[in-house]
Amino acid sequence: MSLVNLTEAFKYAENTGGAIGAFNVSSWEMIAAIAIASEEAEFPVVIQAQWPFLKHAGPLRVAQYVSDITKGAKIPTVLQLDHSKNWEPVMECLRAGFTSVMIDASHLPFAENIKVVAEVVKVAHAMGVTVESELGKVAGREDDVVVNEADATFTDPDEAATFIQKTGIDALAVSVGTVHGAYKGEPLLDFERLGKINDKVNIPLVLHGASGVPENALQRAIGLGVLKVNFSTDLKDAWILSMKKAVSTPGFEPLDCVKMSQDQIRQVVNSKIDILRKAFKEELNAN
Ligand SMILES: [Zn+2]
Repeated sequence: MSLVNLTEAFKYAENTGGAIGAFNVSSWEMIAAIAIASEEAEFPVVIQAQWPFLKHAGPLRVAQYVSDITKGAKIPTVLQLDHSKNWEPVMECLRAGFTSVMIDASHLPFAENIKVVAEVVKVAHAMGVTVESELGKVAGREDDVVVNEADATFTDPDEAATFIQKTGIDALAVSVGTVHGAYKGEPLLDFERLGKINDKVNIPLVLHGASGVPENALQRAIGLGVLKVNFSTDLKDAWILSMKKAVSTPGFEPLDCVKMSQDQIRQVVNSKIDILRKAFKEELNAN
């Protein structure tokens, strides 16, 4: 199957059961590993990148590579730009053939945020591309996205409903206690808030910063409307650890490094997919 947008992938996942994992990449091998894991698990994924990697690798080359390696696959794949604060990355990715983009104008006042996001939605939808956006600010650091703890704000349920209605976005990233990067202690998610948001909105919700969030918390979040779960730090950690291991092995070859790291990423992605689809199935059984 070729590349699809988020809405089509959600439909596929809903039919077979499960929330979709979105995995951030910072190398070509990471992209390959995620595509392999998706085929193995027979479950769709979102291959996702922030602008620093895309600027380095080239959005068009990334889109062509993902399109090539997913050609003939049984499972659909989404290629998404993650956290773009402005137009340039969005336009480059739309032109390159990405099937989904995230515009994050949450640093702007509410009215301006709506205006920018609504414009992106208009252009993206005309090209069949879905749009994710964020309301509230998830704390932490992820590539060039940095939000201090003091500046982090949780998503307001009423604002979320207005935001969706005025912008026409396809998925809403919520700030309910997860962080970008490593957790200092046990992640505490505000499930009450998530439930209220879910009651007020009618589009899938997205949980960012899910690395390190325990399985049961992810499970609960999925039961409260989360259909896309973003992982980045766990992949980066696996990549760095396996690189270190390979380099410290006597007589190592660069190709061994690449293979080991790719295999580690594949395993991490497989384990996350397992959790996400299991959570959904348990939720179904409970009802
Ligand atoms: Zn994020």
